[in-house]
Order: sequence, then structure tokens, then C-alpha cells
Amino acid sequence: MGNTTPLKRSPIFIFGPPFVLASLGIALILQGGLFQAQSFELIEEQTVEFQTAGLIPPTPFTSDYLYPRFTIDHAFQELVVVNKQRELDPIDYAPPTLVTVPSSAALDNSRELVLAPLAAAALVDLADEMFDQGVGQLFMNSAYRTYEYQAELFESKTTQYGLAGALVRSAKAGHSEHQTGLAVDVSVPAQGCAIMTCFGDTEAGKWIADNAWRFGYIVRYEETTQATTGYSYEPWHLRYVGIEIAREYSENGIHTLEDYWSLPPAEFYLEEITASTID
Ligand SMILES: [Zn+2]
Repeated sequence: MGNTTPLKRSPIFIFGPPFVLASLGIALILQGGLFQAQSFELIEEQTVEFQTAGLIPPTPFTSDYLYPRFTIDHAFQELVVVNKQRELDPIDYAPPTLVTVPSSAALDNSRELVLAPLAAAALVDLADEMFDQGVGQLFMNSAYRTYEYQAELFESKTTQYGLAGALVRSAKAGHSEHQTGLAVDVSVPAQGCAIMTCFGDTEAGKWIADNAWRFGYIVRYEETTQATTGYSYEPWHLRYVGIEIAREYSENGIHTLEDYWSLPPAEFYLEEITASTID
């Protein structure tokens, strides 16, 4: 216990992840820190310009590593990484655009839940293919959640399970992927185990674990990753990251976004760590 190091990284840190080194080559290391700092400044300026104009900045290719690395801090980017130690900025962030995912024979969104546009389109494609393969109709249990709703949800989980139980089951407001509009909880009611770990053993759960990446989704909280993510197994919780990242993630056998981006484990909130080290 006791790691309270701030999460802001020096520019040199971006050279860390080995698979990125493999793709960019050693030459990049020789370019020096000044170039990096200037690149980040330019990107930041551009991002602010887009935001000021009420637009969403473009997402670059992952082969251009610098920009994606930068964008994991930005709530409005599909690459954003949010966890117990990386809160959304602003903490009550709401996506600029949300769309109701259309119901069909393949997808039941009778709760009329909303997602960010790219995540919504990808979920439709995923459900269509799942249905075409005879795996069943996908049901949307939960999608975008506001800051306020997440706060209520955490409160109710605390009442139900106590604080320790709530902490591994639900996120505090400002720390939930659902607040980005990029996460969705799904089930196939006909196969049971909705929002239960046994969903992972159903035909639908297995299909999703094997195929979600092809549509840009990852199963964010896997069976053995609690020490990194801080959450217990959630085979129903899908996070949209885009097809490029999802493919790389899957092909390289990566199991958490923290590992993918070489971020520190986020099993605990910083305030939990602080509280535990007070005598
Ligand atoms: Zn979820």
C-alpha cells in the first residue's frame, strides 16, 4: 500500500510500452524530448480549438502513437481511459452527442438507452452478426449513465453490499466508463445469467468474449484482472475502444486497458489508499 504518486507522466514515459517501441522503432527514441513536448503542445492547442467550436477532435490512427497516448486523458475521445485513479475531466462530463440505439430482431433496446454514436453503430453491427450466427437477441441492460445517476447507483450499491462490496461492483461518479457513453452492459435473456458472472459461460457470453473485438469492443473486466482494474469479473460490460485498439488488444493477449497503455494498476481509489495509511 501507499502508492500515492500522481498519475501525470513525464514525456519520457510515453516511450515505455514495448509493443509501441516495436511498431515505432528505436529511431523515435533518438528524436528527443523537445520534439515530443512541442507535439503535445500543438495537439493540445488543436484539441482546445475543436472543443471551443463544440466539435469532437478527430481520432488518429494508432500507428501515430503520440496522439492516441495524449487522447486517453480526454473524456470525449473514444480512447479515454477511466478507472479508479483516472477520473473524468470534468468529473461531471457528459458526451456532446448521444444516440438511442435502434431496436431490431437482433437487438432489444426497449429501455431506449443511449450511447456515443460510434459505440452505438458498433453495437448494432455486433448484435446483427451475433443474431445472424444464431446466438440470440442481444438485450441492452445499461448504457450511458449521467454523473448524477452513477452517484445514486453507487449509493444504492453501498446500502446493498456495504462500502467494500460496492467498491468492486460499481464505480464512483466521475469514474465510470458508462459516463463516457462508450460502455454498455448486455445480456441474452433467453440464455439467463443476465448481469451475473455465469453470463460468461453462456453461448452468448462466449461469443462476445471471442468476437467483440471485431466490432471495436473489449470485455473490460475479465476474470483475473481485479488487481489491475479494481473490479470483479463482468463478462457483460463492454467498452468501445475502436476496432484498431480492440484488434491489437486481442491479438496481443492483453487483458486490461491499464496494461495496454502501460498505466499503473488502479485496484483502489487514491482516497482508499490514503485512508488505509492513516494511523
Ligand atoms: Zn457496466
